[in-house]
Amino acid sequence: MGKTIIISNRLPVQLQIDNDSITAIPSVGGLATGMKSVHSGSDSLWIGWSGLTQEEISEELEPKIDKALKENGCSKVSLTSEEIDGFYYGFSNRTIWPLFHYFLEYSEFETDSWNTYKAVNQKFADAILEKAEDDDVIWVHDYQLMLVPEMVKEKRPNTSIGFFLHIPFPSYEIFRTLPWRKEVLRGLLGSDLIGFHTYDYERHFLSSVRRLLGLEVSFNEINLEDRVIKVDSFPMGIDYKKFSDAASKHEKNTADTQSELQRRLNVHKESTPDAKLILSIDRLDYSKGIAKRLNAFEYFLKKHPEYQEKVRLIILAVPSRSNVPQYQLLKKEIDELVGRINGEFATVSWTPIWYFYRSMPFENLIDLYTSSDIALLTPIRDGMNLVAKEYIATRTDKTGVLILSEMAGSANEMNESLLINPNNFDQISDALIQAINMPKEEQIARNSILQKRLERYNVEKWANDFMKSLLEQRETTQKFI
Ligand code: UDP
Repeated sequence: MGKTIIISNRLPVQLQIDNDSITAIPSVGGLATGMKSVHSGSDSLWIGWSGLTQEEISEELEPKIDKALKENGCSKVSLTSEEIDGFYYGFSNRTIWPLFHYFLEYSEFETDSWNTYKAVNQKFADAILEKAEDDDVIWVHDYQLMLVPEMVKEKRPNTSIGFFLHIPFPSYEIFRTLPWRKEVLRGLLGSDLIGFHTYDYERHFLSSVRRLLGLEVSFNEINLEDRVIKVDSFPMGIDYKKFSDAASKHEKNTADTQSELQRRLNVHKESTPDAKLILSIDRLDYSKGIAKRLNAFEYFLKKHPEYQEKVRLIILAVPSRSNVPQYQLLKKEIDELVGRINGEFATVSWTPIWYFYRSMPFENLIDLYTSSDIALLTPIRDGMNLVAKEYIATRTDKTGVLILSEMAGSANEMNESLLINPNNFDQISDALIQAINMPKEEQIARNSILQKRLERYNVEKWANDFMKSLLEQRETTQKFI
């Protein structure tokens, strides 16, 4: 086997420029961690955008950037700010993202951004082609790069190409509305293995392939004239140990070593020992259902006034894509909703919602996860939702209740949580009551099962399972030849 090439929109490093010196700091995100076993040693390379536009990279800076990246096994694709606008903020985030999350009314079908998407995908493919040899294994990530597999396969038919989609694949009835639906499918079909988080996304994809391209699909295989493509589901896990270790360490904190946030949370807990803390953490994205969740919480407080002053909802909304208009509107809507609900229900000693619009350092996330009695995660549509898994992983004493939308990919693996339909306020309200009153033994029984499963199916296993399947597929294909 040759080398492994991983390709994603963003590289797993952050470039820091200090006067004339450049450092590449490895990212700590889940994907980067999971890929560690795949992206290690000299026989692997990660190709992606560095985060700096071509205009920001001077002739002097470029060799230094390339060197810093190379030291981390990375190589960059240079993109102009115009390309980023059309490809990333345009087609990826204003067409594919809303469409694949069933927000048809938000999807813009602009030929110009489609053309930029194609051109930029070609740039990524060219970057691979420049480095790839016939026996290499290539793993392409996510919705920004759906045309890359075909572009590479055309020129290097003997490479093995895997593609993983990190967001949902919508049902045929939604997908068919895309003007460039066949091009996107053909792009993906350049792969030898196509992976999704869930069996449902896989099923939707296969149905689109059959109906739009008329190809023969048997079980999870697509038969082309000259080769067979395998389609499978690989639910992505988390770095379980990182979260459970951090939570164990957090337990040992003393008054001197704990964070300011933790101190404040403690003050609240001590002053109202019977009150429950309910937590939600998401990027500020319309797919996450934050506004609906606030409405549902208001509904709950109105319907069950006996719980007023007995619960507090902490909303951590992480800023995201704030130059896309829908995200700006959503921010305004949430600001207003929080203000209105707090204004309506607050008493001198109680504010129902604590709202943070920022990203928090890892230690503070652990503070929030470990201090909250209930996690309330109600996305309208979510490819996976890792926050749900992280919350469970930090519950060292196995208490805590997870209320999770059945529209999240992770709901498939988290049946022991309280699954709800995010549009059903009565059901959310009932789930809150069930969670608030759930006996400790029941919490422990549910979470023990969840923790075992999450520990086993961690992100490293996800990456290894995908690679194993890709290599198996390659052996089958080679036998054919
Ligand atoms: N997260 C973070 N900083 C924050 C809040 C959250 O890095 O201030 C992380 C969180 O730990 C999780 C990720 O962001 O790993 C969100 O992943 P998820 O799958 O839930 O949603 P996505 O944002 O990918 O749609």
